[in-house]
Amino acid sequence: MDTFFGIPYEHLYDGPFRTPFHLWSICFLLLGLIVGSFLNVVIYRVPLDLSTVTPPSHCPKCNTRIKLRHNLPVLSWLLLRGQCAYCGAPIPPRYVLVEAFTGLTFLGTWLAFGRSEPLMALALCILFAGFIAATAIDLEHYIIPDQITVGGIFAGFVFCALAPALVGQANAVNGMKFSALGAVVGGGMVYAVLRGGKLLFGKQRVTIPDGSRITFTEEAIHLPDGAVFYDEVFYRTSDTVILEAKRLELSDRCYWNQPVRLALKQTPPLLQIGTEKFDASQEPWMCADTEKVTLPREAMGFGDVKFMAGIGAFLGWQATVFSLMASAVLGSLVGVGLIVAGKRDWSTRLPYGPFIAAAATLWVWGGKEWFFRLFAR
Ligand SMILES: [Zn+2]
Repeated sequence: MDTFFGIPYEHLYDGPFRTPFHLWSICFLLLGLIVGSFLNVVIYRVPLDLSTVTPPSHCPKCNTRIKLRHNLPVLSWLLLRGQCAYCGAPIPPRYVLVEAFTGLTFLGTWLAFGRSEPLMALALCILFAGFIAATAIDLEHYIIPDQITVGGIFAGFVFCALAPALVGQANAVNGMKFSALGAVVGGGMVYAVLRGGKLLFGKQRVTIPDGSRITFTEEAIHLPDGAVFYDEVFYRTSDTVILEAKRLELSDRCYWNQPVRLALKQTPPLLQIGTEKFDASQEPWMCADTEKVTLPREAMGFGDVKFMAGIGAFLGWQATVFSLMASAVLGSLVGVGLIVAGKRDWSTRLPYGPFIAAAATLWVWGGKEWFFRLFAR
């Protein structure tokens, strides 16, 4: 009598609030699909500084607003065969991949952690959603937006109070303490590596396709393959961007064949053109035709400092130690692999965020046990 197709009732109602566990599995899958759909909006709009709320989704080609029934995760893309319902413009497969991957990630995380720590499972889902967005954005734009990194630090802190098991603690106060410690250790370590690395390796030369131009705006250098923000480039007064401009255009004048130096941490910020020195803060805009630009920068940027702080806030300081080591190994393997495969040379830059995200994911899925066994002896 107390069974359902041979399954005892108490086994059926073993989820949170005495509900069937797999009812929640379905909820997590659906939640993941919806979050994945939102991540597509984040990936496209946040790096361009557009709102994620308005305007509603529309086709970039014909501008038609996308109806809800054409905006269902995965399903709509399959039914529409990857095309806009109105003009037939192709919808990149990335959209459906991000949705499906996020959905499966939420489901897998729930199945693995939901039974023992349902709130921790939810927190990990949010963390992985952040990883997916950060990876996609960093691969394309070489930045990780503050909305993800700084937002992640705060979210991690709150979740560690609600689910202190995230950082291996049993109560909220300790959860918050270890979350804060994780953020400080994680951010501090990457910052130290960043500064130390720049002291050791100094300059990085970026080769630009012939005849292309780079633009300096108020906050970033716009290279052909993406923007590099000044706070990733200038830390010390000696940090200088150097280039040979075939043609240099400022808002009110023009130069030909001049060496250009930019050192924004000097007071006043220095812009040197040939032998002439200017106050860079007086020049809102500059555009240069050049083949080579030298940036005082390593592979990692300041976005990675905040990103690792966020990981520490979610997973504790041990996770950041592991992630820093594992990401270096992963980064070297992929970097050397790409060079061997002829896909890249030594001077091109790989974004570092995806390797940190991959390493922290490894931590959650077994790296933690391995790490503690290694250091428990
Ligand atoms: Zn269209």
